[in-house]
Amino acid sequence: MTVDVAKNLHEVLGNLPQDIRLVAISKYHPDEYIRAAYAEGQRVFGESHEQELSHKVEILPKDIEWHFIGHLQTNKVKYIAPYISMIEAVDSLKLLKEIDKQAAKHDRIINVLLELHIAKEETKYGLTLDACRELLKDGTWRTLGHIRICGLMMMASNTDDQKQIAAEFDTATRFFEELKVCYFADSEAFKERSWGMSHDYLTAIAHGSTMVRVGTTIFGPRVY
Ligand SMILES: *Cc1c(COP(=O)(O)O)cnc(C)c1O
Repeated sequence: MTVDVAKNLHEVLGNLPQDIRLVAISKYHPDEYIRAAYAEGQRVFGESHEQELSHKVEILPKDIEWHFIGHLQTNKVKYIAPYISMIEAVDSLKLLKEIDKQAAKHDRIINVLLELHIAKEETKYGLTLDACRELLKDGTWRTLGHIRICGLMMMASNTDDQKQIAAEFDTATRFFEELKVCYFADSEAFKERSWGMSHDYLTAIAHGSTMVRVGTTIFGPRVY
């Protein structure tokens, strides 16, 4: 192994306050890197491609909690529904309904986050704040018994300007508080704010994050 995964992992963990969880983003990284992090006690990993994830699930320890962090096509939901621990990037009612349907088949309740689009980039997925308000106002989600909305997820703009990034995280945090009051005051589950990646997770933990998604800093550059 050319990357010292154990050392990198402990550095990141050392930077996190106790109440902030790490999702180690292992997409495009080999199984041995995941095993190295696992051996150090890491149990939560994130992947963004269904096929790659399915392969890893088969060969890696069964007590890993897998988060799906990428854009998920509705026709792929059925493959991950039996085991996925959290689907982080839900950005439509259609996807939410499909997750509910597939979860029901396995008699599960699947944890999800609603993905927000706050960053400047046009290519990014996610709900605008207004679209997210609409989705919740519509109320259909309340009838879905096999999903549990646990909070929000977002990616900040891909910039070195940590001030702008911080402002985007703050926007997301304020929006979380708004939704908490309007829709989730009685929900203990609605508590997660998944933001912060390798280049901005230190900013994220100072700006409302409860869950960071760090890949490159732990596993090195991805080989595509
Ligand atoms: C790849 C990815 C990450 C991790 O990015 P790094 O810069 O490698 O830390 C986090 N979140 C999402 C949604 C990703 O796709």
